[in-house]
Amino acid sequence: METKSFNAFKMAQQQFDHAADILELDEATRDFLRNPMREFHFNISITMDDGSKKIFRGFRSMHNDSRGPAKGGIRFHPQETIDTVRALSMWMTWKTSVADIPLGGGKGGVICDPHNLSLREQEQICRGWVRQIYKNVGPFTDIPAPDVMTNPQHMLWMLDEYETISGQKQPGFITGKPVGMGGSLGRTEATGYGVIITVREALKKLKLKTKDTTMSLQGFGNVSQYAIELYTQMGGKVICVSCWDQKDQKSYSFKKESGIELSELQGITDQFGGIDKEKAKDLGYEVLDGNVWLEQDVDILVPAALENQITQENANKISSRVKIISEGANGPTTPDADKVIKDKGIFMIPDFLANAGGVICSYFEQVQCNMNYFWSKDEVLGKLDQKMTFAFNAVTQFADKHDLYMRDAAYIIAVERVSKACKSRGWV
Ligand code: NAD
Repeated sequence: METKSFNAFKMAQQQFDHAADILELDEATRDFLRNPMREFHFNISITMDDGSKKIFRGFRSMHNDSRGPAKGGIRFHPQETIDTVRALSMWMTWKTSVADIPLGGGKGGVICDPHNLSLREQEQICRGWVRQIYKNVGPFTDIPAPDVMTNPQHMLWMLDEYETISGQKQPGFITGKPVGMGGSLGRTEATGYGVIITVREALKKLKLKTKDTTMSLQGFGNVSQYAIELYTQMGGKVICVSCWDQKDQKSYSFKKESGIELSELQGITDQFGGIDKEKAKDLGYEVLDGNVWLEQDVDILVPAALENQITQENANKISSRVKIISEGANGPTTPDADKVIKDKGIFMIPDFLANAGGVICSYFEQVQCNMNYFWSKDEVLGKLDQKMTFAFNAVTQFADKHDLYMRDAAYIIAVERVSKACKSRGWV
């Protein structure tokens, strides 16, 4: 989220400018790609449960659709800003590009806090969002999906509103729907599993065995929980996770040196990924300050909560043992922190590569919906593994060949593909 000193869009533009300099992009292409192609701001008027009217602010940003329809999630967050949405839509463009799927980049949001809204009120916000943007989204223009604090039920309400207005069944309008209602098997697991597929490949490259490694993660939501599932299935040990405590309005880290137990922690976690402190203590976890997840003596760090978490101030606290950072969250590392990480020689798997599993599987969901034929979970996860591994290898080979930091290599591949598409269409 945007704070006084941090603006995600400025950071996304800074990262883009760096790639544009390396690629020596011409001025028109830079101007075109530095900002979203189009964006929408609108009011969503809701009748609250107590009968009062309340207005929520909604956004949609379509950063680029030169390679296919825009694609990206919708976030519900009390501190949502248009600049965060713009940044995330830009990162989606690079993500679909580096994953080489025929989609562009979009993102949406509503300034609201689902913690304080009834299900009926949330449904009204979902339907209101679609009513405001109906003419500008759709299976062939811009395809939304869930993101922070939105879930499959929200997607189904949005789809229902879209189909009610259009008078047609159009399940390809939105992804992340419940399985059995147009959702794809494997979508829930996809982002977290994708993060670990990149970790698996990085470990191979560094000639390390998963069973000899340990991990610490920030966040205990969708991405983090499935990352832990696959990593521990592969023999790795997670010793620390952190999460946000809604009641205390601060974050905590939960540590067990012998290795956390995923299912026991899931049993004491709410739907927003918040772990119950007292119950965790009873289960033998150390409950520590929210920032210490980053300082653990582990081999792998996975920030999987939110942006602007690894900064110049705390990057020096990363243990010298850390060999890999795989960014599950979008934008968790600032450009200043990147310099520190690069100097430390840590193998960085940048966000739009590491967490591309979600959008890859969303693409599979859309393909399945459009042909009305659904694949088995194994088929979905097999295809996901293929796509993630291919994208990872393309970036590492490029980085090795040109002696580049992984984030720079990923940016160059992604930006080059998009700028070529814009040029071939005659836009720049
Ligand atoms: P989520 O809402 O399921 O979980 C978020 C987790 O982060 C929760 O455990 C929450 O308690 C924790 N958290 C929030 N603030 C924190 C803080 N200050 N310190 C520590 N923990 C904190 O969200 P998610 O779907 O797991 O997404 C996490 C990140 O991954 C976001 O940046 C999101 O944009 C990105 N992402 C998600 C997907 C996806 O498919 N879910 C895909 C790509 C990227």
